[in-house]
Parts: sequence; structure tokens; C-alpha cells
Amino acid sequence: MVEISRRGVNRLKDGHVWVYRSDIVSAEGIAPGALVSIADERRKSLGSALYSSSSQIAIRMISTGPVSDLPALLRERIQAAIAYRERVVRDTDAYRVVFGEGDFLPGLIVDRYNDILTMQVLTQAMDVEEARATILSELSERLAPASIIERVDPKIRELEQLPAGSFGTILGEKTSTIFSMNAVQFYYEALEGQKTGAFLDQRENYAAAAQYARGEALDGFCYQGGFALHLAQHCSKVTGVDSSRPALEVADRNAALNGRDIEWIEANAFDLLRDYSAAGKQYDTIVLDPPAFAKTKQNLDTAIRGYKELNLRALKMLRPGGILVTCSCSYHVSQAAFLEMLGEAARDAHRRLRILESRSQSKDHPILLNVPETAYLKCFIIMVSHLK
Ligand code: SAH
Repeated sequence: MVEISRRGVNRLKDGHVWVYRSDIVSAEGIAPGALVSIADERRKSLGSALYSSSSQIAIRMISTGPVSDLPALLRERIQAAIAYRERVVRDTDAYRVVFGEGDFLPGLIVDRYNDILTMQVLTQAMDVEEARATILSELSERLAPASIIERVDPKIRELEQLPAGSFGTILGEKTSTIFSMNAVQFYYEALEGQKTGAFLDQRENYAAAAQYARGEALDGFCYQGGFALHLAQHCSKVTGVDSSRPALEVADRNAALNGRDIEWIEANAFDLLRDYSAAGKQYDTIVLDPPAFAKTKQNLDTAIRGYKELNLRALKMLRPGGILVTCSCSYHVSQAAFLEMLGEAARDAHRRLRILESRSQSKDHPILLNVPETAYLKCFIIMVSHLK
């Protein structure tokens, strides 16, 4: 049993599912990754959790009651996660099947790309052999993938003091496929690329952005072309910019796969936007989807300055009636802070803006109310007014 302080208890009462190490009163003799029961200082039971001996997040709750059969619970939760997607996911064969805490499966991420599943194990508890075997067998029974591939984030494994782990297939052999989102096709190489190989969280935003896109378009941080390929359905010319050559190579193959002609430029988007806006270039549609600038609370100010510089330059280049799709995937930058930054950028660029849509991550990355960490993506679709 793990005893937690009043502050930890209050956090759980507020609906959160984490307890930090500093709120643990006693966890003597508890093994890394163990299933534990949680109690307050008077030993009143608060439910069951998974324990990490190394992370600052020592406790991740999995139930408000007792749990005697963890494999059965894992199976049930995976089934529920799949059933949830059947209700909310449309127009794609690629989506997040399990989103950690958002699916009451802390420490587990599973993505589906057509017939390939990728999995990330992020905590000691999910790395225990019995848990891993249960997860694999449930996923393969329910979804019958051609293969399951484990992707490893070395930094997270180090934080959790997990063995380095290896990147590769754990079931089947297939490592590449083609998936589709909103009728746009994408190549997928499971052993390459950033994060889990291809981003899924913007799927609904691609479709939303495409609705308003027109004229000449610029996709500032295009990766493998997610937004650019959607914009190309409605725009006369699309330019995609990214600093990663391998990403652009996939983007170019994706364009050919969809019969689109898109210009790809390998560049630092900050420099390119500065040079283009200084040269008086103009666009009708601009997308900004940079990487997370604020990885921690400490560099929030620098992050906001980065976002502002990008948005200011983009706004200056948009023609009246133009569309800005602007995103932030930094959890630490709140929606309010992002909007304040945009307001300042609009003022400095002498533009009046209308917010057409205030959006977030796709529904297969469920946001759990009272667990703010599950909400990280902000995406605003904005129209530049004709008025100054
Ligand atoms: N919009 C993409 C995801 C973008 S992820 C999608 O929907 O799939 C962020 C991208 O920014 C990555 O591809 C990364 O290579 C690129 N990037 C990071 N820093 C950059 C910079 N300074 N200039 C241009 N691209 C950059």
C-alpha cells in the first residue's frame, strides 16, 4: 500500500490521476512498476494505481476501487479504447488507438496506420512482461494488424529507468504501408520519421483548414505534407517548407501518390518567413504548425516570442480575406496565452482578425477533463479582415 499526503489526496479529489513523488508519505518496499493500492494518511483507501520508482509522477491511478486482475483490466480498457474510436473516428484508417491517460491506460500509446500498429511503452508498469504480453495479444486479437512495431523514446525510457529497449517489429514483419486521411494518401515507414513516424493529431484540422484554403498557400512546417496535401485540393499553388530533408522526401512521394504538384523547400521557416515578408511576398493561405517551442515551463517566454515572430510575419504576408491556420503543440502554452500572443501579433501587423475556428487535437487523442496534461494541441483558423 502507498500512503499519500493531503495535497495528493486533494489532487485526486479534483479529478486528476497523478500523484507526485513529493506527495508520497510512504512507499516502502514497493517494486518498480507494481500495481498498488492507494490510501490517505488515515489509511482510507482511494483506489488502485501503477507505481513508478523513478519518475516524478510516482502514482498513476487506474481505478477508484480494488484491482485484483490487472491483465483483465488492461484487456477491458483496450476494448473500450477501440470502441470509443469506432464512435468518433471517421474518414481514415490511421488514428491513435490508445492515448495513455486519456484512455485510462497511463503509460501506453498505440497508433494505427492502416494495417500496422505502433506502440510506445512509457512507464515501468506497462513494461512489465505480463502487461506487455497482455497488450500485444489484445491488440492483435481485436485489430488483426499485419504487424506491431515498438517505437522507443530513449529519453522517456531513461527517465523511467527502463532498459534501453529496441526499436522494431514485435509481431509480424511488415514495416511500411499506405494510409489515408480524409481521402488523402500517405506513405508510412514505421521505422523512420519523427515521434511515432507520422502525426495523427491534426487529422481533423487538415479537413477544417482545407474548407477555407484558397489561392496561393504556404505550409511553414510541413513535415511529410499533412496540411500541404489537403490545401492542394483547393489552392492554385502550394509551397511546403521544412528544415528536415528526409521529411520533405516523403512529402514529395506523398504528393506524387496523390497526383499533386507541390513545391517543397528545405529551409529554416524563421529565415524564410523573414526573407519572404521583407521581399513583399503575399499569400492567401498560410499554415504554421511548428514543433513544441516550450518543452518546459521555464522557456515559456522564449517560446511565446518564437510563436509571435512567426505569426507576425505570416500575418503581414496574408492578403485581405486570407486564411491563417496557426497551431501550437506546446502543452505549457495555454490557449489563453496563445490567443494573447496572436492578438499582439495582429496589432503589430496592423491586421484585424476573425477567428473562424478554435480547435484542438483530433478526437482519437481524447482530452480528459481535470487532467489538463491530456490537452496539448491548439489550432486556430483565422481570417484576415479587409478592414485595417
Ligand atoms: N504539420 C506537420 C507536422 C509538423 S511537426 C503535420 O501535420 O504532419 C514540426 C515540423 O517542423 C517537423 O517536420 C520539423 O522537421 C520541422 N521544423 C522544426 N524546426 C524547423 C524550422 N526552424 N524551420 C522549418 N521546419 C522546422
